[in-house]
Amino acid sequence: MNIHEYQAKELFSQFGISVPAGKAVQSADAFEEAIDSVGSGKIVVKSQIHAGGRGKGTFTTGYKGGVKVVDTKEEALEAANAMLGNTLVTHQTGPAGREVKTIYFTEASDIEKEYYLAILLDRDSSKPVIIASTEGGMDIEEVAEKTPEKITKVLIDPATGIMPHHKRAIAFGLGFSAKEQLKQLDKLLSGLYKFFWDKDCSMVEINPLITTPAGDIMALDAKVNFDSNALYRHPDIVTLRDLGEEDEKEVKASEYNLSYIALDGNIACLVNGAGLAMSTMDIIKHFGGNPANFLDVGGGANEEQVTEAFRIILSDPNVEGILVNIFGGIMSCKTIANGIIAAAKNVEMTVPLVVRLEGNEVAEGKQLLADSGLALTPADSLADAAQKIVELAKK
Ligand code: GDP
Ligand code: MG
Repeated sequence: MNIHEYQAKELFSQFGISVPAGKAVQSADAFEEAIDSVGSGKIVVKSQIHAGGRGKGTFTTGYKGGVKVVDTKEEALEAANAMLGNTLVTHQTGPAGREVKTIYFTEASDIEKEYYLAILLDRDSSKPVIIASTEGGMDIEEVAEKTPEKITKVLIDPATGIMPHHKRAIAFGLGFSAKEQLKQLDKLLSGLYKFFWDKDCSMVEINPLITTPAGDIMALDAKVNFDSNALYRHPDIVTLRDLGEEDEKEVKASEYNLSYIALDGNIACLVNGAGLAMSTMDIIKHFGGNPANFLDVGGGANEEQVTEAFRIILSDPNVEGILVNIFGGIMSCKTIANGIIAAAKNVEMTVPLVVRLEGNEVAEGKQLLADSGLALTPADSLADAAQKIVELAKK
């Protein structure tokens, strides 16, 4: 789960990480008061969307920049009005862009140098890794490719947590040596690691982390991603979820415990098990189709879930065919057949449906489907099913 920059910075503050003072608002009526509360000097006007690259982004209105540093209140108002309610396209949003529904005003900082700092999970070593770079404000993937020597990586043993030697390695990598700065960096790294660990983050990223001419270290941007599997431990974090930033169908699916990811093809898949879902997508591609989604109804799906799964699939206007591919391992094929029959009563099937059942009580399941009188095409193997749905969708 992602959150907005302004929410992440509020959490940072609670963990002792310095951030510029700021105020987030959702309506133009609140702009003036928010700007006044931030101060009378230079101000940064920041579009809040769940995607990075805002500074270099462009609005579909033609207005350039989702992050603007301005000198006066008038300029701040002008920028905020140009952003709120409009769609910002960045290299991370895709061409459709994202509508800006919140504006964050912050005090502007004088920048001496920009750095990059992140903590994420290193899956090779199963440890948190701190990534730091002197190349702040840049795309870190690009830095890693072109100038990997400018990146410092430090693995943390989760049993000990962050230790002084980890901090020294980061300080050395970033070129910090002044005593006061080392003290600040020490506090920042402790706070950031504690935040990452305590809140079950899968990633925290500060890009840029800055030093000011006065020698202070501060987080100018904040991107945080939480491990969704651990959210049950953090009701305070769940309240920060912004459903407006998520795919409507994915939100609905999560309510019914379905693992659903929207894709941009035309053939929907309804499958049990993540591995089977992936091979189903592969085989659809192999026979010249394009999957419209990844959908895993899980090992113990019931009628209600299958019904909802069909509803979600059919609400996607790109869907031209549905392939149901179920392996009855734990579940009986009869259950899934009944689920399909019940779903067809509640949801109008507007596109061709191919069903391939295999496993536990498969003959009984197939018989139920045959007797139901439903307009579906049965298939015997995965290849047979994929070929049939690709063919039917073409028509
Ligand atoms: P992003 O483009 O989505 O990553 O948004 P950021 O919050 O990182 O802002 C983009 C860029 O704007 C930063 O890399 C900075 O160079 C610049 N910027 C942001 N805040 C300030 C500020 O307070 N002062 C100055 N001088 N520049 C800023
Ligand atoms: Mg940034």
